[in-house]
Amino acid sequence: MSRFFNPRLTSLEAYTPGEQPRDRTYIKLNTNESPYPPSRGVRRAMDRQALDDLRLYCDPNATVLKEKLAKLYDKEPSQIFVANGSDDILNFAFLAFGAEGVLFPDISYGFYEVFANLHSLPYEKIPLQQDFSIDVKPYCGQKRMVVIANPNAPTGIALPLRKIQQILEANPDNVVLIDEAYVDFGGESCAKLTEKYPNLLCVQTFSKSRSMAGARLGFAIGSPELIADLETIKYSTNPYNVNALTQKAGAAAVEDNGYYMRNCRKIIKSRLYTKKELEKLGFTVLPSKANFLFAKSDKIGGMELYLRLKEKGILVRHFEKNRICDYNRITIGSQKEMEAFIAAVEEILGA
Ligand SMILES: *Cc1c(COP(=O)(O)O)cnc(C)c1O
Repeated sequence: MSRFFNPRLTSLEAYTPGEQPRDRTYIKLNTNESPYPPSRGVRRAMDRQALDDLRLYCDPNATVLKEKLAKLYDKEPSQIFVANGSDDILNFAFLAFGAEGVLFPDISYGFYEVFANLHSLPYEKIPLQQDFSIDVKPYCGQKRMVVIANPNAPTGIALPLRKIQQILEANPDNVVLIDEAYVDFGGESCAKLTEKYPNLLCVQTFSKSRSMAGARLGFAIGSPELIADLETIKYSTNPYNVNALTQKAGAAAVEDNGYYMRNCRKIIKSRLYTKKELEKLGFTVLPSKANFLFAKSDKIGGMELYLRLKEKGILVRHFEKNRICDYNRITIGSQKEMEAFIAAVEEILGA
């Protein structure tokens, strides 16, 4: 750290992203990317015109993309915000709505704590229950911003919509942010509740179910008032936060929604297969509604399994945190990749 670094930030612990190794080709089951390529429409959209247009600034309002998203989710464009990945939206939302403090689960997406610290916001981590599910009571009537990933990461466990509604009913005076990065894999989206609850911000991403992690595109659905606040933050940092190629690719991806939803169904099928096979091998596997499984074995430690798999060219995600260090988070890849993964685990366990 240089002596010039802002003293307010000297203890900031940055987020550690999952490995993106360049040394060899791995079966990558560690960062919840899609095993399937972007749709044909996205490919077509990346044409000569798109390249020529790069000389111009992109549309800061992302008009076409917002219109398409609004249509897909039965909203007005004024209820849609887009940003450079949903991480960008989380960052903006913490800055915009977290001044009174922020509540989130102790085991959840690691970036929440980073953003709270980055913006010097008071925050409290609410422990998950014994079975890793979320008890909604501690989030009720707290008069602080609530942030919940639904389905949660890295557990994959989803909250039913009525529980989200319970949190919303009990928090009329603060923002409730529901991070739906994984909702297309079997969860229930709260997007349809934003008219009823003007304090609800529903955040989604093109990174997981829409095969565009590298393009960086996230969106939020909420009341026009909340969206306008996010726009204020955006126009105060980077008005062109979604680049021209990504806007085009995103609009084309929305047009091809059916293709992506079919891929989600394939991933759900492979998730069921993988869960069943892991359970046959004696693993405890949490009930997942996401494109990953969170699993532990009593025959091998979490760290050791991670390392042994890596030797075999398969990457999964291991977290050092106390309560979850026996587990690994395994992204659901293609059916073939999952069969290779199961074969590797069988070899490692000597089964
Ligand atoms: C992956 C993920 C994100 C970030 O997604 P990007 O749109 O790629 O920035 C946000 N929240 C959760 C819970 C995630 O798992």
